[in-house]
Amino acid sequence: MQFVSAGCFELTGYPSESLLHNRDISYNGIIAYEYRDHLWKEWERVLADRSLFKYEYEIITAGGERKWVLERGQGVYNQQGEVEALEGVILDISDLKEMEYDLRFNYEHDTWTGLYNRRYLVDLLKRDRNVLKWGKIALVNINLSTVQSLTLTYGFHYSQELIKNLAHALRFHCSENRILFRVQENQFLFYIKDYEGREELKKFCGDIADTLGSILTAERIGGGIGVFQIEADSKAHIEDLLKNLLIASEAAINNLDKMIGIRFFDRGMETQVTREETIKDELTKAAADKEGNGLFVQYQPILDLRTNKVYGFEALARLKVDNLGLVSPLEFIPVAEKTKLIIPVGERIIIQALNFQKEMMQRGYRDIIVSVNISAIQLFRENFAEFMCGCMSRVGVNPKNVILEITESVFASNYENINVIVDELKNCGVRIALDDFGTGYSSLVRSRDINANYLKIDKSFVDELLSLAEGSITGDIISMAHKMNHNVVAEGIEHEKQKQYLLENGCDLIQGYLISRPLDRDSAFEFLGKHNQIPGYSFS
Ligand code: C2E
Ligand code: MG
Ligand code: MG
Repeated sequence: MQFVSAGCFELTGYPSESLLHNRDISYNGIIAYEYRDHLWKEWERVLADRSLFKYEYEIITAGGERKWVLERGQGVYNQQGEVEALEGVILDISDLKEMEYDLRFNYEHDTWTGLYNRRYLVDLLKRDRNVLKWGKIALVNINLSTVQSLTLTYGFHYSQELIKNLAHALRFHCSENRILFRVQENQFLFYIKDYEGREELKKFCGDIADTLGSILTAERIGGGIGVFQIEADSKAHIEDLLKNLLIASEAAINNLDKMIGIRFFDRGMETQVTREETIKDELTKAAADKEGNGLFVQYQPILDLRTNKVYGFEALARLKVDNLGLVSPLEFIPVAEKTKLIIPVGERIIIQALNFQKEMMQRGYRDIIVSVNISAIQLFRENFAEFMCGCMSRVGVNPKNVILEITESVFASNYENINVIVDELKNCGVRIALDDFGTGYSSLVRSRDINANYLKIDKSFVDELLSLAEGSITGDIISMAHKMNHNVVAEGIEHEKQKQYLLENGCDLIQGYLISRPLDRDSAFEFLGKHNQIPGYSFS
């Protein structure tokens, strides 16, 4: 070393004299060991083709600290073209490197939990596909979209703290072959390499479910764990793999038997999703089309038990889709609710049902009611009562001939708020039925607080009448409901024995296959003609 500038001390902690002629230490001795070979090879290459040397590496200072430097240099050649010396400058780039590191860290990590993010997962999948050809790789998605409900109730900060705690707990399941990611706001993912087989994955998911359960039980929410095993020769797009994984975890979350469901992906799930997409498309069309496009209404008679005459009809929505056939409302109404299509679709149903009522009126059946199911999303829409009144006056229907059915679970969440809407509707003149009573959230005490006119006892209670009859509490429900000023409708009557029991126990109205299945408009009129006389007979 023939020349060393004074800046040497600041950079290396050694005074320049120490390095001059390698008095105390050679510069090579300062370079971190792992770079030395590479550096010499690079110098040899550069000297051979007389180019410029440029290399980033780490040195170890006199104080033992590692520092990133950038060396730029070149050979000094004599007249014969032989290398006489090397000259160069060495710059401290530690700050730059730190910035670069921070940038990279933020690029690859989720800042809130410090876990790897989705971007890094995709990079890793791409890299591993090229290098490993994907031998034994599985993805395990932990879907906690349920946390959203906590955000709505307790705020963003609360749910994000929960996510942090969950991330912390899940870290204990990490190892070299089990890498944890936070791929979306409420979703974690384990990337699993070199596992034995399905049994190992099952056991792993079981352990994860236990960990989640220990935290989520207190929050009263569940979650879903979806598993996707990547086949070694898979050519699928990474986005498709992640989509399938999400499908599996969505299916897992819908498993209501378990707080934390576990599902392995299978092709059937994909079909289910395609089906849902088709239904969504059809509903979109139906919402835009004046005629309803595949969407229509059937009418199930409701019988007055005392008079044996038709009291009214429940309007039940139907959807006919070209390659799916008739789709049950139990399937398409939730899709409509999820996509908010229930608003325009619901309006079509309401209008059809009101027109049916108007036609009954025009044919001389003056007091026959029509009962329409209303979902929570419709009900909580701003000015729903005003909208409903508008529809009735536009079609020309007397509100006293209209019942709106609201399912019981809606009341469970916030009955005070709902009563405000219910009262507005009642002020318009329509009546309200509490649908599906007895299916979960209900208590008779609670039903007293709800300003409904009718209580519709769910089919599950009516079914009980076949086996229990004497011991059934259905009779008690009827008499208590009467004390609370509700009229009682029993749903799902299929057998004469049930009808007899209900008659003996003072039930007001019944509905079920024993009387009639839901009917198309024309058949409904035929049914009405057989049971009731014109002109309008009052049954109220
Ligand atoms: P829901 O309001 O409780 O309607 C009664 C359901 O029980 C109907 O099923 C009806 O066809 C069925 N049912 C009636 N009698 C019997 C019987 O004796 N035995 C059996 N096994 N079933 C009987 P559907 O039409 O499949 O409708 C299912 C649910 O879908 C309805 O339950 C309601 O919650 C919902 N729904 C139907 N139409 C609409 C609608 O226009 N809007 C909304 N929001 N929901 C609707
Ligand atoms: Mg109903
Ligand atoms: Mg019902």
